Amino acid sequence: MKKVRCNFCGSDRYEERKIEYLYSHKGKHLLVFDTPVEICLNCGMVYYDGAVLKDIERRFFAIQNKIEKPEHYIKMPAEVYVYHG
Ligand SMILES: [Zn+2]
Repeated sequence: MKKVRCNFCGSDRYEERKIEYLYSHKGKHLLVFDTPVEICLNCGMVYYDGAVLKDIERRFFAIQNKIEKPEHYIKMPAEVYVYHG
């Protein structure tokens, strides 16, 4: 995923980072560490890769449907699924 320009401010200065991404759906949450994103160095806008988000969504529903298991749970205050992507 390489963006040429920021959609928001038009800057072409980007930095790749890994962040913690919290996916939420109807009061359930999946916290994913090391989610790759690109951040605009000018305005701080965060860009997610569509394929990465799709995979997180797929995993959320796999856990929800008990096809996969999260690595662990934390309470914050609701139950949050966690995996390290
Ligand atoms: Zn920007």
